[in-house]
Amino acid sequence: MKPFYIDYPQEKIEEHQHAYRCAYCKIPTTVIFGLLENHAADCNYLAQHSKWVQIEAKLKPHRDHFDEPHADEVD
Ligand SMILES: [Zn+2]
Repeated sequence: MKPFYIDYPQEKIEEHQHAYRCAYCKIPTTVIFGLLENHAADCNYLAQHSKWVQIEAKLKPHRDHFDEPHADEVD
């Protein structure tokens, strides 16, 4: 199951009563549906988000390290 990302900035679509879209790439939230790949390729949110993912990846320990049987004994 894919994670949903709905923390992008949204703005109201003027022509629709209850419709919102990404403030950066102007794609309606109903089309994006919480999926990063549904934003435009040059969306500012997408660019920012991929930076965050890279930072998070650096902070998290590498998972393959824990697959070694004695890795947890290293202090
Ligand atoms: Zn977007």
